[in-house]
Formats: sequence, structure tokens, C-alpha cells
Amino acid sequence: MKKILKLLIGTNNQGKYKEIKDLLPKYIKTYSTSNFKLKSPKEDGLTFIENSIIKSKYFSKKTNLICLADDSGLEIDILDKDPGIYSSRWGGSKLDFDKAIRRVYRELFKKNKNWQKRKIKARFVCALSICYLDKKIASSIGKVEGYISSHPRGRNGFGYDPIFIPKNKKKTFGQMKPFEKYKIDHRFIAFKKIKKFL
Ligand code: IMP
Repeated sequence: MKKILKLLIGTNNQGKYKEIKDLLPKYIKTYSTSNFKLKSPKEDGLTFIENSIIKSKYFSKKTNLICLADDSGLEIDILDKDPGIYSSRWGGSKLDFDKAIRRVYRELFKKNKNWQKRKIKARFVCALSICYLDKKIASSIGKVEGYISSHPRGRNGFGYDPIFIPKNKKKTFGQMKPFEKYKIDHRFIAFKKIKKFL
């Protein structure tokens, strides 16, 4: 298979863009959706994989570039895996993650008033898909297991990082340095599986 030299990173989320760019080999010239002023497509898939395929196909078609897109989110077991594929929607149209985090806490409180004394199992999931110019697709999935913190902690990262504590760690993703998070997170695990297709 020929090596990919040019690649569009199909996300409008700066946090994800930066992380994915850092994972790629340096010889690949990357483009972002903002270079093309592209809006995101409607994500009406029912799984992370389906949504990552929708995005990679859409952005590839619009730009004529091979596209690597991700769909990711936080699954909380006692909330029946919510926010899950709706993780970004819980932030509202302004992608306000303080608001999304408040909603998580509200929903947890509704389920169990003593939730802060329990271990609330959760995981971040990331699906990555590459759409090639011949429209063939390669996909992978990565997960990192952990717990919901009783209070938001740390200002690093983005999204739900301040409330997620990965298994066997004490700090939330929001308290970790970017490189500490990147080497254990869901996107890195998915990337390890898909990199042979680049
Ligand atoms: P989408 O994949 O762009 O539809 O949105 C995924 C949403 O899940 C993001 O907007 C974040 O809120 C959340 N999310 C995904 N990955 C991470 C992460 O690594 N840290 C924190 N939040 C994340």
C-alpha cells in the first residue's frame, strides 16, 4: 500500500485536531477542516463507528483529500451509557462543557443521591475512520476505562476531561499534562490500531 503523504483531519474541535496531529508521522502534511471553512455534517449514526464514517466520507468528498475523522464521547454506565454519542450535544450549540458537566452531575444525582460516595464507572470511546480517495474505509475503536470524579478537577484538555479519572490513576484527564493523557487515552488506543492503514 502506498504511504499517505497528505491527510485531512476531519474535525472542527481544536482539542481533537491537535491531539490527532501529534500522533501522526511528521512526513504527513495535514490539513484541517478550517483550512476549507467546512461545517460538520449531520451525525445521525447510531454508533461511534457510524458517525466517524459519516464525517470521514463527507470531509473527503468536500476536499478531495484522504480524511481521518474521529467520533468520540463519554459513556457512563449508570446513565445507560449517556452522554455517549450525544457527548458533544450535551454542551449545546455553543459547545459549553461546563454546562455539559453540570448536566452529567444532575443526571447522576437523579439516579442516585449518594452517587458521590460511589465509584461511577465510565469510559471514553473513540472511533477513527479513514476514507480513501476510492471511497474505501478503514476504521478502528479505542476505549479507556475509568470513573467520574465527584467534582471537576484540572483545567487542561477539553470537554469532559475535568471529570474523568482513568482506572488506576488518581488525577483526572483535566489535571494531566497533555502528553500524560495522550499516551493512555481512547484516541491513542484507536490510533495504534489504525496507523498501519496510513
Ligand atoms: P464529536 O466526536 O465531535 O461528536 O464529539 C465528541 C465529544 O465528546 C467532544 O465534544 C467532547 O465533549 C467529548 N470528548 C471526546 N473525547 C474527549 C476527550 O478526550 N476528552 C474530553 N472530552 C472528550
